Amino acid sequence: MNPIPVNEPLLDGKEKKYLFECIETGWISSEGPFVKQFEQQFAAHMGRKYGIAVCNGSVALDAAVAALGIGSGDEVILPTFTIISCAAAIVRAGAVPVVVDCDPHTWNMDVSQLEAKITPRTKAIMVVHIYGLPVDMEPVLALAEKYGLQIIEDAAEMHGQTYKGRPCGSFGAISTFSFYPNKHVTTGEGGMLLTDDEKLAERCSSLRNLCFQPQKRFVHEELGWNFRMTNLQAALGVAQLERLDEFVARKYHIGQRYTELLSDIPGLQLPVPKTDYAENIYWVYGLVLNDQVPFDAEEAMRRLAKYKIGTRPFFWCMHEQPVFQKMGLFDGVCCPVAERIARRGFYIPSGMALTDEQMERVAIAVREIFS
Ligand SMILES: *Cc1c(COP(=O)(O)O)cnc(C)c1O
Repeated sequence: MNPIPVNEPLLDGKEKKYLFECIETGWISSEGPFVKQFEQQFAAHMGRKYGIAVCNGSVALDAAVAALGIGSGDEVILPTFTIISCAAAIVRAGAVPVVVDCDPHTWNMDVSQLEAKITPRTKAIMVVHIYGLPVDMEPVLALAEKYGLQIIEDAAEMHGQTYKGRPCGSFGAISTFSFYPNKHVTTGEGGMLLTDDEKLAERCSSLRNLCFQPQKRFVHEELGWNFRMTNLQAALGVAQLERLDEFVARKYHIGQRYTELLSDIPGLQLPVPKTDYAENIYWVYGLVLNDQVPFDAEEAMRRLAKYKIGTRPFFWCMHEQPVFQKMGLFDGVCCPVAERIARRGFYIPSGMALTDEQMERVAIAVREIFS
């Protein structure tokens, strides 16, 4: 029995051809032509004016927070159910992360709880679309407008998704993407910031490049980082982006097929297929164990590992992270929905290269671990 990995990317388009071009021409650094091409094409795809490519999706968030001038004394609201990168960017900037619980069905930030978290110190809302369904953006946009807050949109899991027909990654002052191999478009490691604001675009690109100055290169007015993406990575990105529609359709098929195969198993909560603002694009296919199931996600994953089926646990809440608790953050915070799904949720193989036969094998194993 061959193992079924939790993720396997598809690299059988023009990736080799474009990579070969980099080697042939000697353009391998961030100065190469694929970087600009990828930035322009990716931004155009998401309906944005400017794209700033960086070396991963986590640093894209660091640069976004810094570019918006968020720092000491500021509060930023974000979902507790997300990746550490979101809260880390806020904490590293010296600002305070304020978390919101999630919706039990969509697993996204419960936007009805947002307004109660806004204080005079709130500077921004970091929106994170989770696992394939977007956050309900309209109420978020209305609150941002009402209270004069910036929006950072973490669209790392949303390449090709839309909210009421508008591309995810086109909302707020800055949106960010990741191109890690489990994302819809991969560059191995990589990320991107998108914005429509020329000044913000300049700030992001300066922060990415150590804040070198055009006139006096080695004289610095501000501290930046080396977050540059290489031409090799961008070459992969250009090739991958050519197939985005196909990739989104493939993931959608995976989601639909899993739902057919798994929906009659008692004790399992499956991803929501659609809401009134979007259809799920199933970035990953998550499962949450109902309370009647006498074991938790860890045990379920252990049992599936015996069938050589790769899984990943759900995110662990930001307010329960030991690193933040040691800093004295999130004292007394309680988010019962996110705490529960973090313990009872995990996802099954969902990569682009997953075959229908593999899905059937996964479904049989999932069924067996419940009997
Ligand atoms: C993958 C991901 C990131 C981080 O991206 P890396 O490229 O792995 O640093 C950030 N936010 C979300 C929501 C993600 O899924």
